[in-house]
Amino acid sequence: MTREVRVNAANSESLSALDELVASVLVPLAPRTDAEARFPREMIDAMGKAGLLGLVSAVTVGGRGSGLRQASTVVERIAQVCPSTAMVVCMHFCATAVIEQLGSESTRRAIASGRHLTTLAFSEAESRSHFWAPVSTARVEGEAVVLDARKSWVTSAFEADSYVWSSRPAVAAGASTLWLVDARSPGLTQPARFDGLGLRGNASTPVLAQAVRIRAADRLGEDGKGFDLMMGAVLPWFVVLSASCSLGLMEGALRGAVGHVAGTRHQHLNTSLADLPTIRAYLARARIQADAIRALRDDTVAAIAANRADTMLRVLEVKAAAAEAALEVTDIAMRTCGGAAFRREAGVERLFRDARAASVMAPTSDVLYDFIGKLVTGLPLFG
Ligand SMILES: Cc1cc2nc3c(=O)[nH]c(=O)nc-3n(C[C@H](O)[C@H](O)[C@H](O)COP(=O)(O)OP(=O)(O)OC[C@H]3O[C@@H](n4cnc5c(N)ncnc54)[C@H](O)[C@@H]3O)c2cc1C
Repeated sequence: MTREVRVNAANSESLSALDELVASVLVPLAPRTDAEARFPREMIDAMGKAGLLGLVSAVTVGGRGSGLRQASTVVERIAQVCPSTAMVVCMHFCATAVIEQLGSESTRRAIASGRHLTTLAFSEAESRSHFWAPVSTARVEGEAVVLDARKSWVTSAFEADSYVWSSRPAVAAGASTLWLVDARSPGLTQPARFDGLGLRGNASTPVLAQAVRIRAADRLGEDGKGFDLMMGAVLPWFVVLSASCSLGLMEGALRGAVGHVAGTRHQHLNTSLADLPTIRAYLARARIQADAIRALRDDTVAAIAANRADTMLRVLEVKAAAAEAALEVTDIAMRTCGGAAFRREAGVERLFRDARAASVMAPTSDVLYDFIGKLVTGLPLFG
């Protein structure tokens, strides 16, 4: 078997395993995940056992060796049913991408085996959505490094096994340094939980670090080079997977809306909602938006893979475009389903609420618009 045939076979095996878990575990779990703001532990454990948490880990450490394209399909399929779970998996793959480059072999093996969930801990209370500018500190004490921080939002906080963590550099110049922090380290506490609007099951809460001691060897990359890693190793993964989450969410909302519209009748007229041209036009606009985002997402993956000249433009575009489209598509889904969508059991309002997160998750849509404006007018993105 050639390498390509082997990879294709492994990819289709991963997707059929995922589809089974979505049907048997995720579909019944999703309403509770939202209603009880409960971490989707059953699905995450099941994905670990099926080898799907090791999807993007290298084959040499026991993973599936898949890339960004396959990861985006996985996140999209999960988001159709449960965006909270999709965001947990999105953050896990993003953090894994860095750990695969710079982490220890034992952590990489643990992730590949499905026993280790990881996530990104970048946003801080002081610099808010400007994730590239941590103000938290790292102090060298002999063989140890001591971290202090007020992380403002961490998906899978106290559910994950580790955090890919940003701080100011310990001694070097530069904007930041990345570390791998064991989530059970003494000194890590949860100051508060949020009663969130959407993505209620992904355990995104603040994390306070007070004199957390880690090993100097837990640094990811060089001191002071965190910014380069955020931009080079994390950003392409995060924007594509966040866009995939928004895309799956749009597909889920459209499926719900189309099903409702086609199956709902005005008996006195002997017509269905689909017989109304206004309703059909709304659905057409939503379909166009979702299909356009799919094309942009796939082109962004292709640009990254080929290191095309327009890669940075695509990277900046894809998350903002998908996040904003998801706001509109879920709005249309609510509108076309009428009062029926106000009933939680219809499932459409959950996706409407979940869709609100992506545009304010860093880099926010507004920040991305500013960056894109700078890029197309030839200005530097930062400074
Ligand atoms: C559900 C959820 C999960 C999250 N998970 C994680 C996680 O796992 N890890 C992590 O590190 N973070 C995470 N975050 C945090 C996220 O990435 C952002 O940092 C956070 O949402 C920003 O909120 P804020 O109130 O601090 O925004 P602010 O920075 O206060 O922004 C407020 C408004 O100002 C706008 N704005 C800010 N700066 C500019 C600018 N330069 N130009 C134009 N407009 C600007 C923003 O677009 C926004 O509309 C999560 C957030 C959410 C909602």
